[in-house]
Amino acid sequence: MRGSIEVNAGRCTGCRLCQLACSWVHLGLFNPDRSHLWVKVDEKRARFAVEFKETCNKCRACVKFCAGGALTIREEVTALGQAPLG
Ligand code: SF4
Ligand code: SF4
Repeated sequence: MRGSIEVNAGRCTGCRLCQLACSWVHLGLFNPDRSHLWVKVDEKRARFAVEFKETCNKCRACVKFCAGGALTIREEVTALGQAPLG
């Protein structure tokens, strides 16, 4: 799937719904520690930090359940005029 997941850490509330959604979708259980992303406390900046593990397959389930709006999709834009044709 094209595009990437962007993190706006300033909007993260630390609710961990993203991790619960990920573990549920991929493993059928609610276990934040078994998800494909981390939600950590960034003590230096006094906020939360979100990082994706290498095992993340960009399925976007975490984005769908991020109530804080901290996770969004950045779609890959292709200029039609520059795309190779057939
Ligand atoms: S995009 Fe990655 S971190 Fe998010 S639910 Fe899918 S596998 Fe998990
Ligand atoms: S669901 Fe969104 S607001 Fe909640 S911990 Fe995850 S990234 Fe942060």
